[in-house]
Amino acid sequence: MRVILARPRGFCAGVVRAIKVVERSLDVFDGPVYVRHEIVHNRQVVEDLQAKGAISVEDLDAVPDGATVIFSAHGVSKAVAAEAKRRGLNTIDGTCPLVTKVHRQVHRLSGQGFEILLIGHAGHPEVEGTMGQLAEKIELIQSVEDANRVEVANPERVAYVTQTTLSMDDTSKIISVLLRRFPKLQPPPTDDICYATQNRQDAVRRIVKSADLVIVIGAANSSNSNRLVEVAASRGVPAYRIDCAAELQAEWFQGVGTVGITAGASAPEYLVQEVVSHLKECYGAQVESELDGTDEDVHFPLPRELVTVSRHRPRHGVLREGDPDEGGHGRDRPPLRQGRGDASDH
Ligand code: SF4
Repeated sequence: MRVILARPRGFCAGVVRAIKVVERSLDVFDGPVYVRHEIVHNRQVVEDLQAKGAISVEDLDAVPDGATVIFSAHGVSKAVAAEAKRRGLNTIDGTCPLVTKVHRQVHRLSGQGFEILLIGHAGHPEVEGTMGQLAEKIELIQSVEDANRVEVANPERVAYVTQTTLSMDDTSKIISVLLRRFPKLQPPPTDDICYATQNRQDAVRRIVKSADLVIVIGAANSSNSNRLVEVAASRGVPAYRIDCAAELQAEWFQGVGTVGITAGASAPEYLVQEVVSHLKECYGAQVESELDGTDEDVHFPLPRELVTVSRHRPRHGVLREGDPDEGGHGRDRPPLRQGRGDASDH
């Protein structure tokens, strides 16, 4: 069996940053550190952080007044942020800067008098956070059918933004319909589907040319992982999403010569390596990294509020001048979790 590892795969810069936000907060704050919602959509990452002391909650009601709470990478609505402020919570914002960028677009477009359409999936926390940026209604468009149905007050003043982790194929179909119906539709100034989502989908498009089967490592609630499965399946290659190697099923590999492996943006590399080890052990797999893949060099600095506290209250480490966490132009760092042979190239 031949195994092709997608390049890039796994952790993106927003996920690395969000995990680091929790780890640094655990370091510098004396009291308990609460994390609202899964910091990123991956059970193993969440459990690793819980083992280090992070307390997971779904709602601010579970956070005592005055305590420290971290908002997850998916972002929160204005109402959640206001509630935290009202309660005197010490909030640290783990929202990915690329999600924050969409929030800013929404505010700017609304200020310019545009009615806003959000292309995304109902119930996803990022969508709830983006829709909750404005008091007025943002219309959610989940499908081509929605795009065909939606009514706007003034077709001359309508704009769209998107969730960051969508399928590029599906989104472009939806946008085509919207443009046909509303020729003056205002696009976002830069693409909202983030670089990590695009790069991982591009890598799957490349590996399906030679793979008979694609395995996607990622959580069931990870939007970008599910989109990777769809990208492969839409090109006629069977694809399975798994949380970890224990979910691999022998019948998937019958008659399969080449397996493509990728991982969603919140899946740690050690989970990929466990799958690789399993395929080597059971099928004598020969593993190669995708030759035409791209390497990412993206880094997001930590939130200013956390950097400021870290400078004044370093408990287990001191931020040095020029440290990319302070807002410099750093390169991607290796993953934060050590052990189990993780060695992400993201
Ligand atoms: Fe940010 Fe994209 Fe990663 Fe989401 S997938 S955390 S938007 S970089």
